Amino acid sequence: MVDDERDGVRLTSLDAPLGDGLEVTKGELVDHLDAFADRLVPQLAGRPLSVKRVRPGQEPFMQRNVAKGAPEWVRTVPVWSYGAHREVHQVLCDDRRTLLWLANQRAVEFHVPFSRAGEEQPTGIVLDLDPPEGAEFGVVVQAAELVRRALADAGLAGAVKTSGSKGVHVVVPVRGADFEDAAAATRALAARAAALDPDLATTAYIREDRHGRVFLDSTRSGSSTIVAAYSPRIRPELPVSAPVSWADLPSVRPGDVTVRTAPERLGDGDPWTALLPGPQELPADLVAEGHTIPVARVQAMHEGRRRARARRAEAGE
Ligand code: ATP
Ligand code: MN
Repeated sequence: MVDDERDGVRLTSLDAPLGDGLEVTKGELVDHLDAFADRLVPQLAGRPLSVKRVRPGQEPFMQRNVAKGAPEWVRTVPVWSYGAHREVHQVLCDDRRTLLWLANQRAVEFHVPFSRAGEEQPTGIVLDLDPPEGAEFGVVVQAAELVRRALADAGLAGAVKTSGSKGVHVVVPVRGADFEDAAAATRALAARAAALDPDLATTAYIREDRHGRVFLDSTRSGSSTIVAAYSPRIRPELPVSAPVSWADLPSVRPGDVTVRTAPERLGDGDPWTALLPGPQELPADLVAEGHTIPVARVQAMHEGRRRARARRAEAGE
C-alpha cells in the first residue's frame, strides 16, 4: 500500500480504490483536493462543513459531526442540528492540512452554507437548477439563461457552475441582507425566471407538479448548503462542480470535468473567483415580492395534506 505524508498529515492506502464503482483511487482524490486546496479553502473557511464520504463496501454517507479522533488543530464549531435534535460539531476547513486530513478520510464532496459561523448575514444566494428525469442537459442551460435574465432585469448578476451531478447552480454574492430577506429574494427570482418561460421551468416543489420542466429550487439559501466549486461528486470518475462562463454554458456537459481532467480543463487559475461578481445589495421590490411567496417546503406540506383529504373524500372514507 502506498502511503505519504503532506503538511504533517499522514495519507494512507493511496493506491487503493476510493469506493465502489468510482473508477478512481484514493490517491486521485487526494491529489485533486491538494491541487485545488488554494481555490477550495477560501470557499470553505469559516463555514460549518458537511462532507459526503465513501468507503469500499459501504453506501456513501453525509457527515456533519467531526470524525472521532480528529487532531487538536482541526477547528470545529458547535451547531444545533434540527434534524438530529442535538448539537453537532462541524469542521471549519480553514487550511490545507485540514483538507488533506478530510481527504484521507475519503471525504469526496464538500458542502457549505452561504454564511460563516457566527455571522447573521448570508454572503450569497443560489438558485439550484434540477433537470427533469431523463432530460437533455440543454434544458438546464436554457433555464439558467432565464435566471440570468431575471437577475439582469433586477439589476443583479450571478455566476454559474455545474453541480458536477445533473444540474447547475447560479450563485449571486450579496451583502446587507438578513437570512429572511435573502431567502425571499431567491423565491422572487425563481418565480420571475419561471414566468419568463413557464413551459420550460417551474418552481413547483412537489415533483408530480413539474411535468417534465426544469425545477428552479429557491430553498438552498440560508443555513442549507450547496456543494463548493471544484468539489468532486460521488459518481463514476468523480466529476467536479465546474465554474463556467455564461458564454461557454451552451457547450458544457456535466461530467466534462472530472478529477482527471480538471487540471487541464480548469488550469492553474481560479475561474470561480474570476467569474463571481462582487457582493450586491438586493433590490427592495424583489425582497418585498419574495415575502408574498410562501416557503415551498411549508406550502408543499399543506398541499400534501389537502390532496390526501381530497383522495379520502373521493374514496368515500
Ligand atoms: P444535482 O445537479 O444532481 O441536483 P446538487 O448538488 O444540486 O446536484 P441537489 O439535490 O439539487 O444536489 O441539492 C442541492 C444542494 O443541497 C447540494 O449541493 C447539497 O449541498 C444540499 N443537499 C441536498 N440534499 C442534501 C442532504 N440530504 N443532506 C445535506 N445536504 C443536502
Ligand atoms: Mn441541484
